[in-house]
Amino acid sequence: MKDANFLKANNARSLWHPMTAPADSLENPPVIVTSAQGTRIRDIDGHEVVDGVGGLWNVNLGYSCQPVKEAIAAQLDRLPYYSIFRGTSNDCVIELAEDLRAFFAPDGLTRAFFTSGGSDSVETALRLARQYHKIRGQAGRVKYLSLKKGYHGTHFGGASVNGNANFRTAYEPLLPGCHHIPAPYTYRNPFNESDPARLSHLCLAALEDEIAFQGAGTIAAFIMEPILGAGGVIPPHPDFMPGVEAICRKHGILLIADEVITAFGRTGAWSGSRLWGVKPDFMCTAKAITNGYFPFGAVMISEGVADVFETDATGRAAIGHGYTYSGHPVGAAAALACLRETQRLNVVENAAARGTQLFDGLKALQTRYDLIGDVRGGHGLMLAVELVADRASRTPADKSVMARLQSVAYAAGAMVRVSGANIILSPPLVLTDADADVIIAALDAGL
Ligand code: PLP
Repeated sequence: MKDANFLKANNARSLWHPMTAPADSLENPPVIVTSAQGTRIRDIDGHEVVDGVGGLWNVNLGYSCQPVKEAIAAQLDRLPYYSIFRGTSNDCVIELAEDLRAFFAPDGLTRAFFTSGGSDSVETALRLARQYHKIRGQAGRVKYLSLKKGYHGTHFGGASVNGNANFRTAYEPLLPGCHHIPAPYTYRNPFNESDPARLSHLCLAALEDEIAFQGAGTIAAFIMEPILGAGGVIPPHPDFMPGVEAICRKHGILLIADEVITAFGRTGAWSGSRLWGVKPDFMCTAKAITNGYFPFGAVMISEGVADVFETDATGRAAIGHGYTYSGHPVGAAAALACLRETQRLNVVENAAARGTQLFDGLKALQTRYDLIGDVRGGHGLMLAVELVADRASRTPADKSVMARLQSVAYAAGAMVRVSGANIILSPPLVLTDADADVIIAALDAGL
């Protein structure tokens, strides 16, 4: 490893950081993380903090998950790579598919298609949804519906269903036929509705209205996150996702649950769909499937969709889609170990308990700081604090305020993430109560 001076001098000289203007990284050098243990990360200056971000919503089991590290090392030794394209398979991925089938059986999902990450998983589900309708002779079903403020990765399909202009405008024109309805975001919505149940109802009515406007027979799928994540952690009213499911079923529209963040315990349930009692047609997963230790993802597929592909007599079911790294044996080995550890450690219970602790801590901060407009959470370890310049007008806090808060919180012991005017918390699910206290104290210092 080069010395610290070299690394600091060249932090952003020869690389562009994702989701950052290149000039920004040169002006405000990114923190250089050099090691991590448990729930803590250490930077190049030796400063150690609790990771309130959990890598990027993915390091659910923390940084010292030995069984996963060992599984990766052993698999690299035995079979570092083999493709599962037509005609070949590998032993590890078969075992993983069987374990995932058992894990997601309560969600009605029994087949897996493997990918290299979240954006790939979204793209896979969007493409297979169109193919499903074509196999069934409904080739006109090509459009997609989604939520404003939703985030579905950055490939062209995912970007097209994204509901945030920041990830769209510079790359337009995107895919035609993608339409967005209002998110059930109680703090800000076009209906000026502050009651979550009534807002849920209004958003569902907007969905019905959009379907009628587009024509149900033109729509392939509706895609949503069970709890919006990158858009600012927006948990919907419990009626919302079941309502979407019912509307989709009524109109023959497939429901894609984008659970790249929410699967594997983050919400305090084993999946976000299970949290709301919904059985989607496709579920996109990635991130925590390998605890962030290997780029990997899986799209889980319902029995109903599988049946259409597997019993096709039209010749339209050949899957013309896949990635060199679909079913990568090292990723599969990591995922197998993660699934076992996730269940053995019962992180879902800890996520719920620590989530409540953080939510209560953030609510207490809100009573002390006018800067806090809204606190969102209540479902495991995904939480957000929305900062405002002024509570009455709800004017979002300035970018410089957010940056200052983040850097003071970091100096005080916690890495937190800033997204627009939101501070987002998504720590490892193995967070301790002492870690949670550190995060709240660091935010207190920042505020
Ligand atoms: N979908 C959701 C809900 C996400 O939160 C993300 C990433 O944060 C993605 C898709 C894209 O995943 P990736 O960055 O692994 O491509």
